[in-house]
Amino acid sequence: MPIDPTQPYDDNNIFAKILRGEIPSSTVYEDDWALAFEDINPQAEIHILVIPKGRYVSWDDFSEKADADEIAGFVRAVGIVARDKGLVEPGYRMMANIGAHGGQEVPHLHVHLFGGEPLGPMIWKRG
Ligand code: 5GP
Repeated sequence: MPIDPTQPYDDNNIFAKILRGEIPSSTVYEDDWALAFEDINPQAEIHILVIPKGRYVSWDDFSEKADADEIAGFVRAVGIVARDKGLVEPGYRMMANIGAHGGQEVPHLHVHLFGGEPLGPMIWKRG
């Protein structure tokens, strides 16, 4: 079910539990600002989720409320993961879903990194 990105942060969301170590995940990178792990249901050969350590529901929430260090740290972490995984030279896609129209299902900001193969059209076409 898509989430409402205007709701307050829910500490019981699945990614909050991963951050607290209550649920296992395949970590690919961690620093003071971000955690990156394999998506449990990959939609490409490589599909990694990068999440900030702070309590932000969505990109909207993060861009409004995070301080400059958090934003810089998170954006840099996304870039580090992409480089570490060898995604830059062949190319990759990054995506953040927000709310119902975006299809966001987990109410903790996450950036999807897709790669490892050609990824096809950017978005479902109207026809
Ligand atoms: P969204 O639709 O919110 O942008 O993406 C949520 C993503 O989280 C989905 O791609 C889904 O497969 C992934 N996901 C959901 N629950 C878990 C989990 O418990 N562990 C991991 N590693 N990924 C999850």
